[in-house]
Amino acid sequence: MTTALAAAVLSPAAAPAPTRLWTPSRVLVTRSAAERPHGQRVLARLEAAGVDAIELLPGDRLPNLRGDGDRAAFMAAKQTLAVVVPPPSKRRLQPIPPSADWRFDLAEGCPAHCQYCYLAGSLSGPPITRVFADLDEVLGDLEAYVGLGAVTSGTAARGDEGTTFEASCYTDPLALEHLTGGLATAVEYFGTHAWPGPVQLRATTKFDDVAGLLGLPHGGRTRLRFSVNADQVARRFEGATSPVAGRIAALAAVAAAGYPVGLTIAPIMPVEGWQEQYGRLLDDVAAALPAGTDLTVECITHRFTPGSKETLTDWYPRTKLDMDEATRTTKRGKFGSVKHVYSKETMAELRGWFTSALAEQLPTARVLYWT
Ligand code: SF4
Repeated sequence: MTTALAAAVLSPAAAPAPTRLWTPSRVLVTRSAAERPHGQRVLARLEAAGVDAIELLPGDRLPNLRGDGDRAAFMAAKQTLAVVVPPPSKRRLQPIPPSADWRFDLAEGCPAHCQYCYLAGSLSGPPITRVFADLDEVLGDLEAYVGLGAVTSGTAARGDEGTTFEASCYTDPLALEHLTGGLATAVEYFGTHAWPGPVQLRATTKFDDVAGLLGLPHGGRTRLRFSVNADQVARRFEGATSPVAGRIAALAAVAAAGYPVGLTIAPIMPVEGWQEQYGRLLDDVAAALPAGTDLTVECITHRFTPGSKETLTDWYPRTKLDMDEATRTTKRGKFGSVKHVYSKETMAELRGWFTSALAEQLPTARVLYWT
């Protein structure tokens, strides 16, 4: 750690005020979740936040939330938070390339309304947000995975990150943090536990409520990444998230508190004037970050699948998001899955531009991958 960063850890920057704090209109808590320590902590936070529509269920089954499939049912589901204990099968961790060796989930679902949301193709059922109450047990299991994994562990490019655990595959942890405190619990656990080898917790977010994270004993073992985009993409397609300026202020605050940080530039879209817009974004990040910040960058271009397109056009029927298969290249996965990505020429143009812009505007940043 540099001297500048070490000093900053001792006196973290003031937290920028959060720009958006979600209040669910309905909360469902299963019996098993209410019995778990994390479930009880979430209940206490919900009460402290003034959320009063809390239903303690007599068993572990959630009521049928599928509704009649209309817009009102969709919005009601998006406004619902469930606190549950997931099935035991979820406790077996899966690799999550290209981000991390392993993924573990603090929650599934997200209250925001990104019209390209990648969850649309991966989660089924009504889009409620499920917070997992077995967090303490899940954290206790992670030690067994240290030294295993093939995405970062043992690789020449990223082996120095240690065994990596991604906590934001199926949710946006900061969207829920004021109601759950789950990310803070995980950060503190990673920072203070006596691990048998180097580890890194990873999370990415489109929110900016970092106040509860700044003073934690993170031990440099959590890399907080902020998902950012061109102005036009964020304003048009990222409903109910924090504005990009707020995310950049939050990024700067956690960097000043000594966290390794990252940019997840996603999904990259060649909208009109994209070079200027992404150029301004990188300038804003460069201007905000304290000297000596440990910064990584992950670049993900926009893609969609037949399933995600169907779900997203159902959720956001008037979307202006470009999901025209005719202008895309189709990629097929091992098991016949189909993904529509930009053409080879567009990909090359985007990649070439980002490679030089990042080298010029954020010269100390390490680019982890392009996809
Ligand atoms: Fe989906 Fe992330 Fe947007 Fe939430 S913030 S709606 S998880 S893309």
